[in-house]
Amino acid sequence: MINDCIFCKIVAGLVPCTKVYEDDDVLAFLDISQTTVGHTLVVSKKHYDNFLATPKTVMHKVYDAAQRIGQAQIKQLGARGVNILTNCYKEAGQSVLHFHVHVIPRYEPADGFRIEMYENTHVGELNLPVLAGRISKGIK
Ligand code: 5GP
Ligand code: ZN
Repeated sequence: MINDCIFCKIVAGLVPCTKVYEDDDVLAFLDISQTTVGHTLVVSKKHYDNFLATPKTVMHKVYDAAQRIGQAQIKQLGARGVNILTNCYKEAGQSVLHFHVHVIPRYEPADGFRIEMYENTHVGELNLPVLAGRISKGIK
């Protein structure tokens, strides 16, 4: 447990949460912001900084729970879609440095959540095979 980590405190029962699911390795609870109705966070019980820093066995368990929660949001809340999202490091929007996956039920395009991906205005200047090669080289 990391002392000043809010999700570690929630896992330890020191801070209350509205629980959705729990097993030996995973806890899921409603996000305090409720971006859309039912917005749920799935967290590893053990502290890892984010998805990239999490051992595969634990990462698989968190995503397994996220999948089942997304299915339940469709079935039980009448959501018509679900966004599964995890942010890694603050530059990517991570505000709580404890691995978590957002499971965000979607009801309609303007329901409070939006992802926008713009085309890079310099896309024509990129050497895509070189770029792909650089990433490939780093895959363990
Ligand atoms: P991030 O920005 O790191 O991807 O997501 C962190 C999420 O944690 C935010 O959506 C925020 O609303 C949620 N959050 C932060 N503090 C608390 C808390 O104390 N309780 C709950 N339930 N959610 C929290
Ligand atoms: Zn933590």
